[in-house]
Amino acid sequence: METLSRRPRAPRGLLILFGTVVALPAATLVFLGVRLLQQDRELARQRRAETLQQASDRAVRALDDDLATLQRRLSDPSWRPSQAPPGTAFVLMARDEVRADPPAALAYSPVIPRMKEPPTAPFGELEAAEFKAQDLAKALEVSRSLAGSTDPAVRAGALLRQARILRKMGRSADALAIYDMLAAFSTISINGSPVDLLARRTRCLLLAEMKRTGEHRQEAAALDADLGAGRWQLDRVGYEYVSAQLDQWLGSARRPHADAERLAAAVEWLHQQWTRTPGGELSPNGARSLSVAGALVTVVWGSAGGRMAALVGGQEHCQRAWLTTAQTAAGPAEVSFFTAAGPGPPPTPVAGDTLVTRRSAADTGLPWTLIVTLGSDVDAARFEGRRRMLLAGLAAILVLVAAGSYLVVRSRNREIALARLQSDFIAAVSHEFRTPLTALRQFNELLDEAGDLTPEKRRIYYQAQTRATERLHRLVESLLDFGRMEAGRRPYTLQRVDAGALVRDVIQEFQREIEGRGFDLRCSVEPGEHPVDADAEALARALWNLLDNAVKYSADRREIDVSVGRTSDRVSISVRDRGIGIPSGDEKRIFQKFVRLAAATSRGIKGSGIGLAMVQHIVAAHGGTLRVASVEHEGSTFTIVLPLQEP
Ligand code: ADP
Repeated sequence: METLSRRPRAPRGLLILFGTVVALPAATLVFLGVRLLQQDRELARQRRAETLQQASDRAVRALDDDLATLQRRLSDPSWRPSQAPPGTAFVLMARDEVRADPPAALAYSPVIPRMKEPPTAPFGELEAAEFKAQDLAKALEVSRSLAGSTDPAVRAGALLRQARILRKMGRSADALAIYDMLAAFSTISINGSPVDLLARRTRCLLLAEMKRTGEHRQEAAALDADLGAGRWQLDRVGYEYVSAQLDQWLGSARRPHADAERLAAAVEWLHQQWTRTPGGELSPNGARSLSVAGALVTVVWGSAGGRMAALVGGQEHCQRAWLTTAQTAAGPAEVSFFTAAGPGPPPTPVAGDTLVTRRSAADTGLPWTLIVTLGSDVDAARFEGRRRMLLAGLAAILVLVAAGSYLVVRSRNREIALARLQSDFIAAVSHEFRTPLTALRQFNELLDEAGDLTPEKRRIYYQAQTRATERLHRLVESLLDFGRMEAGRRPYTLQRVDAGALVRDVIQEFQREIEGRGFDLRCSVEPGEHPVDADAEALARALWNLLDNAVKYSADRREIDVSVGRTSDRVSISVRDRGIGIPSGDEKRIFQKFVRLAAATSRGIKGSGIGLAMVQHIVAAHGGTLRVASVEHEGSTFTIVLPLQEP
């Protein structure tokens, strides 16, 4: 009995099961998932690096094409400058001539046209009077007569000297008027400096001396405006001299001509390169970027024969034209330029997954170094979508593994529970057998040993023996029957019987079984017939089982009511007791094989747990139903309902 009642041990086995079925595959899956995600991220990075490379290649090619076209145009001898885009200038150069279009685009020029200079000969007498004799009045008179000359160069020279003499004589207002006249001479220069520019500069100086501040500022501003508008073709020294003077006069109010100065510097560089190396280092066609005063200036040139044509463009043009070209070609990537000669790119903060590539001017042959960046958001959506799919797939597999594991564990649990029930069953059946066997042995001994028994006593002992034998018989029969039912081999021979009569017969027999145990077993059968199709023996066994349970599970109130009734199409057989009842929630369980409730086992009530399963089997085989209604501690009613048949 000890061995039979030993329970299968679950926890350790379950742990191993859980480990092998759930934890191991789940951990493997998670590991593989993480690896897969890492690889995917690496792949995404490689793809983005390729995208960036291709984008920068496209940008380089597009710029190369653009510049090559421009160089071809510039090196065509028939090309003439026209319509330079804003912020640029076209320049056409010969060794001793530089023409810019528009002229105002350059602040100064490496070569300036020669203008007519006043001769010195006519001014000998004037200068002798002015400097040697110090006779200013005479010198003034001579200058006045020379100012009437028909030669504008002589006239300009005379007027200049006249203004100088007047200043010496302290007649500043008269000198001012003379300089005003000189400001109208635009084709004469003195020592390479245009006379009108000289006259206007001197007027500014005089006005400053005379403390006519308002006029001084006005004239200086007008001079600056004309300088910026390219009124004079000056060389670098001339321009810087005037510019420095204007800075002094106008101070911070002055707006510098920075663009024109930068373009001029670039043209000067090109001219120097070209003239310094005739047919030498400077390639006939080319492009170069220069950093002038911290800004980018690009020069594209083409030369043929003795002429050189070029386009110089400032930073703005670079952005507008070439950067746009590069940007359009580079697609999702961002392009920025900087000059190879300049200070280099500002350190780009590379945020997150942003990729950067640098295409240096030396590698690409372009005049700029290109920085191409691919933001982390580019292509991110595509990869993010794939990553999400991957994660969803992994999650689905995990769910499947978990569900599968749950099923395995559950079925394993069920197996364990069943094994436990079976071992309980064997223990219970053994007990069931032991009682009648013990009774039989005891009565045998009594009959054997006590020789002087009265016939009455003997009869009682034999009756007790018979009951024990019948009990054993019923036990064996019901076990065999249960076995056959389980195997689906229990044959039922249905015949029309009267349920009322059958119930009365069973009760009569059962009454004998429980005789002397103090039970009040009542039976009420509704008047009339209760025809049903039944296997009388099986139905009787079912009813016996219900009665047996009613007896076993009755506590102090030993009352059992059996009733037979009918409706229009059904016959019902109820067995009611006032016993321990069934806790709510357990009503369904009790019909499963081997199930015994705690109330039964804890009270030591004998049973095998197959009775109700058998009853249900039999009732179902009769096309009927078995119901239970119970209140714990108050009692239970089991009802067999069968289809009513014709009498
Ligand atoms: P057993 O041999 O244990 O009586 P059954 O299949 O007949 O097996 O019954 C299953 C369980 O149902 C019993 O162990 C008991 O817990 C409960 N049970 C059956 N009939 C009654 C009843 N009339 N009153 C209370 N509990 C009952």
